[in-house]
Amino acid sequence: MSLILIGGNRRKEALLYEQVGRNVVHCRLCPHECVIPDGRTGFCGVRENIDGTLYALTYGRVA
Ligand code: SF4
Repeated sequence: MSLILIGGNRRKEALLYEQVGRNVVHCRLCPHECVIPDGRTGFCGVRENIDGTLYALTYGRVA
């Protein structure tokens, strides 16, 4: 589980995903089951694939 800083924002590696190809991930958190290429977010817009690792963009943020 990794934590990175991008532009001052904390991003934590997401749970419930797997790599399915070169830097392509499959998120299994919800029924959308997004297959996300490198540099893109899933349908929800809050999980981003960065170099084959899926990060939760909302980690540590208060609603
Ligand atoms: S919508 Fe978001 S949480 Fe649901 S599968 Fe896609 S990336 Fe994962």
